[in-house]
Amino acid sequence: MTTLLSGLSKVLLMGPGPSMVNEAVYKAMTTPLLGHMDEEFVGLMNAVKEQLRAVCQTANDVTMPMSGTGSSGMEACYVNLVEKGDRVLILQNGVFGVRMADVASRLGAEVDVLEFPWGTPVIPSKVKEKLAAKSYVLVGVVHAETSTGVENPVEEIGRLVRGNGALYLVDSVTGLGGIEVAVDKWGVDAFYSGTQKCLSCPPGLAPLSLSALATDKLKARKTKAPNWYLDISLLTQYWEGQTRIYHHTAPITMNYALHQALALILEEGLPNVFARHRAMHELLVAGLEDLGFTMFVEKPFRLPMLNLVTPPKGVDEAALRRNLRQRHNIELGNGLGPLAGKVIRIGLMGETARKENVERLLAALKTELA
Ligand SMILES: *Cc1c(COP(=O)(O)O)cnc(C)c1O
Repeated sequence: MTTLLSGLSKVLLMGPGPSMVNEAVYKAMTTPLLGHMDEEFVGLMNAVKEQLRAVCQTANDVTMPMSGTGSSGMEACYVNLVEKGDRVLILQNGVFGVRMADVASRLGAEVDVLEFPWGTPVIPSKVKEKLAAKSYVLVGVVHAETSTGVENPVEEIGRLVRGNGALYLVDSVTGLGGIEVAVDKWGVDAFYSGTQKCLSCPPGLAPLSLSALATDKLKARKTKAPNWYLDISLLTQYWEGQTRIYHHTAPITMNYALHQALALILEEGLPNVFARHRAMHELLVAGLEDLGFTMFVEKPFRLPMLNLVTPPKGVDEAALRRNLRQRHNIELGNGLGPLAGKVIRIGLMGETARKENVERLLAALKTELA
């Protein structure tokens, strides 16, 4: 039986995810399956939890990968920590903040949104005013806004949230493994990420971590979490303790992949990984500006792993992306929402953030613009 697989293109992934995957991770995915309750697999689950604590810089007991892409991490945090009528504040400056408000409002929460223009960061003094006026059960923010390429000041916001008594929720799907994430130091109570961005692992798992304060809220719920699959009180019985209780069958292969991907990051060392992302970002920006592209975000707020650029005058961004994919096997990302048709999103996530990739892209762009 022939399949389509052998005919698929080998594409350099330089969009907003998925990112390039190291050969060692692909190899890990060919490891034969163990049973999902096998003692050896439980040992691997424990190792993955330890690795996640290291990359998230946390001592939280509840630190594990959710089965599902990054969005399952978002959903899990909200369905477990928010109950009907809870007051929730979402700090919003892009697509993923809009999603947070959608997810929270579906749970019957009273959602307040504090909006900032797309392409600019959340301003802590505005957050401070909002928090002084009202108390909240939870405040949510996106660390690395993949739709705009902006880094939000999550550490500073964390200090403000602590004074309000709210739980602090941070989405770092795009940040983790590319810029510093310090869950404990920043006072984050609910944290989630995804495997397919800077962790450079295929999509399929969502690392998640909850503080003691968040697990207290979970225990104090008046009603069961309205989602069985993502119920963390059930999932911890599978992921923690001497005897494990079956909940769902963990995606065994994805956990092998994550174990290997995290090992690569920890072996390189977090400071080196962050420095590599920064250096590749600077190389890319210099090259793009030489070619006549303009960066969309002001310098101090730019994410290294996700670059929004406006093409030179007269260049059709959709045609440029199409030509790069067809003629050069390079994938770039489109603009989302109000930025559609205006910007290109260039990802330098994880394994993608390597000199040969940046140089290959710049050469291809030069050819196309000529
Ligand atoms: C990609 C992304 C998500 C969603 O992750 P999926 O893996 O696509 O489900 C959530 N938040 C942010 C900031 C993201 O970049």
